[in-house]
Formats: sequence, structure tokens, C-alpha cells
Amino acid sequence: MTTAEPGKKLTIALVGNPNSGKTSLFNSLTGLRQKVGNFPGVTVDKKTGTFSVPDHPNITLIDLPGTYSVFPRSKDERVCSEILCVPGQQPDLIIVVADAANLKRNLLLCSQIMDLGIPVIVALNFLDVARSKHLTIDDRQLEKMLGIPIVPVNARKNEGIADLKAQIARMPAIPEQGFMETAASPQIARIKEITQAKTDYAALLLGLEQENFTHIDPALQQQLAGLLNEHPLPATKIQGADTLARYEKINGIVKECVSSRKEETGPSKTQALDKILTHGFWGYLIFFGLLFLIFQAIFSFASYPMDWIESAFIAISQATHQTLPDAWYTDLLVEGLLAGIGGVVIFIPQIMILFGFITLLEDSGYMARASFLMDKLMQKIGLNGKSVIPLISGVACAVPAVMAARNISNDKERLITILVTPLMSCSARLPVYTLLIALVVPDQTVLGFFNLQGLMLMGLYLLGLLMAIVVAAITRLLIRSKEKGFFILEMPVYQLPRMANVFMTMIEKAKIFTVEAGKVIVVISIVLWALASYGPGNQMEAVEGKYEHSEYRDQYSGAELAAKIQSEKLTHSYAGHLGRFIEPVIQPLGFDWKIGIALIASFAAREVFVGTMATIYSAGGDEENILPLKQKMALEVRPGTDQPVYSFATALSLMLFYAFAMQCMSTVAVMKRETKGWKWPMVQLTYMTLLAYFSSLVAFQLLS
Ligand code: GDP
Ligand code: MG
Repeated sequence: MTTAEPGKKLTIALVGNPNSGKTSLFNSLTGLRQKVGNFPGVTVDKKTGTFSVPDHPNITLIDLPGTYSVFPRSKDERVCSEILCVPGQQPDLIIVVADAANLKRNLLLCSQIMDLGIPVIVALNFLDVARSKHLTIDDRQLEKMLGIPIVPVNARKNEGIADLKAQIARMPAIPEQGFMETAASPQIARIKEITQAKTDYAALLLGLEQENFTHIDPALQQQLAGLLNEHPLPATKIQGADTLARYEKINGIVKECVSSRKEETGPSKTQALDKILTHGFWGYLIFFGLLFLIFQAIFSFASYPMDWIESAFIAISQATHQTLPDAWYTDLLVEGLLAGIGGVVIFIPQIMILFGFITLLEDSGYMARASFLMDKLMQKIGLNGKSVIPLISGVACAVPAVMAARNISNDKERLITILVTPLMSCSARLPVYTLLIALVVPDQTVLGFFNLQGLMLMGLYLLGLLMAIVVAAITRLLIRSKEKGFFILEMPVYQLPRMANVFMTMIEKAKIFTVEAGKVIVVISIVLWALASYGPGNQMEAVEGKYEHSEYRDQYSGAELAAKIQSEKLTHSYAGHLGRFIEPVIQPLGFDWKIGIALIASFAAREVFVGTMATIYSAGGDEENILPLKQKMALEVRPGTDQPVYSFATALSLMLFYAFAMQCMSTVAVMKRETKGWKWPMVQLTYMTLLAYFSSLVAFQLLS
């Protein structure tokens, strides 16, 4: 029976074990005609693309998450099972991507898929690796025994793609039911009837997993739950028996189709490399060396393209200001919209560089070893071996770091990683720390060669790391997870990474960030611009009017006058009023309303603190030249006293605040994108703000 008449739109799903080559095959088939979306309700990316074969010009291909069995153990696997067995969502054809070097395990999944009542083609991949392991696979015999088409491919080298397409064009029949004889029971018959499942096996799967599926029609789900409450299915027993029986059949097939030539040829390339790369000493040394390189790249190499982007946006802003009339919409365009877009684009170099490195490590097979090395250590605090890269990258910038956590397959460990990553001291905190340290920590040497200011700065970095560890350890106890422990079955073989793949991932990540996080960032920066540019009533106009008088014009130079007007306008803006409004709340931390304004303005990004302070104190200067600002801040005294505002207690309190507070809308936006919702970014914003507030409170109260 053929299900697809010519010309009909087809949906094809790629299914297979993790690392069997699904994504490689997906890329070979679709090229750049891809897009990334969401599977509704879960945090798993949905990659779809299009391609065509004769008679079917319009095929949608879905790259499903890797899975070992149709009985899911993790959220990723559940997404896959659900699509395969819930009627109405099923694809028209499934391509099982099978790793020929691990044929038994791959055939288990394949055999289960064959029982779902959907046409199946096997793309037999990794034949080169099988060959290097001295395994010969008789694919014609395999095809005969399984009764479904088998197409040898090499997804990495794009070989066999034409054969695969030809096979798709021929559209195979639905496999004859019965790779497995499911013990037909009245209960399964009943489930099959109400769900209209295509086969007994699909009905069984629906019965066992219905409570975990998010996509079944709720009425149907309730009906199923009722039925199963009355006569529960013994899930573990059924699954166990099913898997055993399948393996028994598979063993028979493999015995006939696979022959292995056992000749001792010494350790393989992979074994030799593993001796060094997973070594108890050299393994760690090499890993930390690589981490250092990655860190260098996102910290310093990225600064060149970031500087170009910044200069380009300054030039565009100036040109826009000069060409457009001096009106509110020019301001909105330049200081609101352009600044917002600039704030998005500026992250692209770091994101692309970090993902370039990560894909290199993943693709070469090294990442599996690195996470294996680090896993034992990181598990103790609820993190994953793969959390190391996000955490280290977080010292440069939390935005690419949070995105990098996507490679962690355990949901809970991934969530904890991204919740604590922004506690790592990112580069945007540096200007804030530099200013405040210069203000209150004397520039002197202690114990012979330690510079006191340097020690303070290092202390702040260590504090961030320490807090990340503490919060992770606590969160581990608070977040519950149904996901079962993940264990690695075997390590992938080492091979040269493919540059096209690296490049494609870099582009894809930059695109996702720009489009999805970018929207949020632009909206928030426009709101913040409005708060700083407008004030209640006609207070802003009053400021301008006041400085029209000649007494001011004579007293100050042009630049001084402009700075004074800007400063006074800011204090009369909505942001200024908000700063004053929150003063009672922040007074116990040693902050005054001027600091309050800077706190509000720098919600967009921490480094804005310095610029805002410079405006408030009409000090001129910028991030690089803080001298005039430092002098003015040092002279500031509390009203009615001669005590300086920026005492050691206040400065330390402020540094602690910036160490722990979120103060970064780009991270909030990227959190929303990565967790697919506002819940976790809000949890994070709240806990970090509370942490910042109370640390500052305690520090200031103890010291003053
Ligand atoms: P997925 O997890 O199933 O999406 O697998 P990927 O497509 O990401 O592939 C995992 C790794 O296997 C990548 O490094 C690929 O380059 C590599 N790979 C894929 N197919 C083959 C193949 O036929 N032979 C070899 N040697 N490597 C392959
Ligand atoms: Mg993949």
C-alpha cells in the first residue's frame, strides 16, 4: 500500500540514536533551506527544512531529537515518541538513521519504529567506521530480513544522498506488521479503538505514555486515563519483555548480516588519542588549555569586531542626527531604536566565536571526553560536565554562555547551569568595579608584591564563582526532576571536524539570538530611553528654559553648559523621579537617589552605570577616562554633613550589588528564548536582585 500520491505535500522525520548522523543527513538533504522553531510546550529546538524529489516537490523534513527507544526516558525522547505515535501528528515517512558500527542497538529503535504503521527507510550510516572496526555488513541480506529498504549513506561526506532520494521518491509500503507479536489484549484493542492508533504497538505506546504527552486532545487523554485507571498496564513488565524479545530477534539478524574479521592490529587511532585526552593529569591539562583558548577568543579576539560594530553604529547615529531634523522622532530613532539594535548586534561576534569552538569540540568527538572528565566534579554541585564551558564563558559574557548551555542534555542540569551563569563576573562589570575600586581602595602594594586594588578585583571575581557554586548546590535540592540519570553508552570516534558544519552552526546561533532575543532587547531599550528622555509635566522644558538665561551662558563654557543641562534634565526625567522614589528602599544600602538613577538606567546593561554617573555629575569623560568622574564623586558629601557619599562601605556595598544583581536585559532576553517562557528569567531576576540587595545591606550595615 502506498500512502502518498504524487504531488502531495509530504512530511518526513529523521529518527535515530544520538550521534547517528541525523543532523548531518538533515543538512545534506536540505542545505540552507532550514529553519529553527519550537516544539510547543518544551525547550527542545525543532529543526525543519525542505527539499524535493521527483513527484514530490514539497517535502518537509524534521530533525527529531536523538533517542534510543520509543519508550522515552527524557524530555527530548518524549518529543520524538509523541510525534511518532500520536495520530494526526505522525509523519508520512520515517527515515531511521542507523549507526552501522553499533548495529544491534540501532536496530532496536528501528524495529520499534517498524511497528508504528508508518513507511520506514533505513539510512545505514557510519559504514566507514564499521569498516575500520573490521565489520562487514551485508546490507542486501539485512534489507531482506527486515523487509524495509536499506540505503547505505555517508552523512558526513554526502554520499548515497541521491540513492536515498530515489528511494524516497519510490515511497516504500508500510512495513508488514509484526516484527514483534504484541500480545493482543482486549485492553490494547480498546485503546486502539478510541485513539485510532494505526497498530497495536502504537496503541500500547499511547497507553503507556499518554500522561506524559502534551499533545493529545485533552478529552481523549482523559478517556485514556480513565480506562487505564481501571485496568492499569504493567509498564515495566511489558517494556522489559518487549525489549528482550526484540533483542533476541535482532541477534539472529545481526549474526547473519554482520561478519567481523578479528585480527589484532594494535590500538586504533581513537584508543591512542584517548590514552592522552582522558588521562588523569594530561587530560585535565589539555582541557584547561582549551578552555583558556576559548576564553581568550571570546574575551579579547572578539573585542576587535565588537569595536568595529560600535564605531559603525556611532557613525550611523551621527549621520542620522545630522540628516534628520532635531525632533523627538530623531531621538527615538537614534537613542532608542538604533541604540537598541546596536546593543543586539554587538553580541554577535562573541556568540559566533563561542559556537565555532563548541562545534569544533563536538564534531571532533572531543566534547564527550571533556564532559566525562569534568562530570564527577560537577555532579557534586548539581551541574554537568558540559557546564564548565558556559561557566567559563560567563566571565566574558553571560549571553553566549547561556546559549552554550543548550548542549547539556539533562534538563535539570542545564537549567541550574543557566540560572547561575550570570553570577560569573562578566566583562560589563569591569568598568563599574574599576571606577569604584579606584575611588576607595588605595593603590598600594601589600606583602611585597600584591597590589591592593588588584586583590580587590580578584576577590570580586572569586566571589562570583563562589556564589555560582553555592546557588547551584542549593537549587539542586529545590528543583525536582523526573528525568532519569543519563549515562553515556560509548564515546564517538575522533574525526576531523567539518568546517561547513561549524560555519552553519555559527550562523544559526547568531540568527536565533538576533531574531528572538533581539526583539526583547530593542523593546526594553526603547522603554529605558523614554524614561530618561521625558519627565512629568513640563519639567524638562523648564530646565531648558532656565539655561536660556544669559547669566548661565556667561558663566559656563559651551561644553560645560551642555553637560549641566543634560545632568539636570536626567534628574527631572521619569528615570530621575524613579531614582528618588526608590531612595528610601536603597538608603539602607548606603545609596542615594543619584545612585538610584544609575541603578535604573543600568538595568539595560551594567556598564551604563559609569556613563549615567558621568551625566549625573556632569563630569564628561567615558568608560576609559574616569578621572574627572572619580574626582567629582570623591568630593560628593552627604547633605548636611561633611561625610563623603562614597565611603568604603558604600562603594563595597555597590560593588556587591553589581556582583550579584541581574542588571542585564540581554541576559533576561536570552533566558526567555532558551527556556521558552518568562518563568525562569523572572525567577532568576528575582533571586539575583534579592541576593544583591541583602548582601549589600549586610555589608553596608556592618561596615558603617
Ligand atoms: P546526530 O546527533 O544524530 O544529529 O548526529 P550528527 O549528524 O551531529 O553526527 C555526529 C557526528 O558523527 C558528527 O561529528 C558527524 O561528522 C559524524 N558522522 C555522521 N555521519 C558519519 C559517517 O557516516 N561517518 C563518519 N565517520 N562520521 C559521521
Ligand atoms: Mg543532531
